[in-house]
Amino acid sequence: MGNISENFKKIRDKIEERSAKLGRDPSKIKLVAISKGKTAEDVLEAYETGQRVFGENYAQELQEKYNLLRENVGIEWHFTGHLQKNKAKVVAPIISCIETIDSIELAKAMEKRATKPIKALIEVNIGGEGSKSGVKPEDLKILVKKMTSLEKLRLKGLMIIPPYSDNPEDSRPYFKKLRELLGELNSEKIYTEKLTELSMGMSHDFEIAIEEGATIVRVGTAIFGERGE
Ligand SMILES: *Cc1c(COP(=O)(O)O)cnc(C)c1O
Repeated sequence: MGNISENFKKIRDKIEERSAKLGRDPSKIKLVAISKGKTAEDVLEAYETGQRVFGENYAQELQEKYNLLRENVGIEWHFTGHLQKNKAKVVAPIISCIETIDSIELAKAMEKRATKPIKALIEVNIGGEGSKSGVKPEDLKILVKKMTSLEKLRLKGLMIIPPYSDNPEDSRPYFKKLRELLGELNSEKIYTEKLTELSMGMSHDFEIAIEEGATIVRVGTAIFGERGE
């Protein structure tokens, strides 16, 4: 507790350092603060350091924090968990972006419940583990093609959670692969607009992700501390 602003400074410094080394513009890398399992007070503390974009994994937790914090101008929510279709009603009116589209059914449910344009990322399961959600690389193009017919839910790019490893370098091949998949979608013009977003990298591997072209990094523990899960 009380370290949130210090932690933010450290993370932002690291993003700037890493971008500078690569000649990347640090303002093109969006930091999403993953606040799942943390309190609205924690989110508010982060907000007061200037953070505006937060990520939540559970519909009800998102709704509770949204209601407590909605007065805070400019606050924005990404949905980063596995979402059941029947929760689209709760989530769609609250968020600016869903990072975890993994079926056309979920995409259509979000479209139906959207009250304004919502950005969407497709979660890709490159690890191939049965337990993880996400679309298999071989099914990606079909889903992207189907999403072209939606009007309010606008696809912007791809997201990945690689299998956890203590060595952040182990994430690199997954990040590379995600970037290649995005490149293929664009070169084959599968979607109606160019796809630009790569959401990859968490507390332990976001610097590697930035090296591999991340435009969105999702950091929880390194900002808010360990979750009591
Ligand atoms: C929990 C979570 C994060 C944050 O993970 P940390 O290791 O705490 O930084 C990022 N992305 C997703 C999808 C998550 O579920």
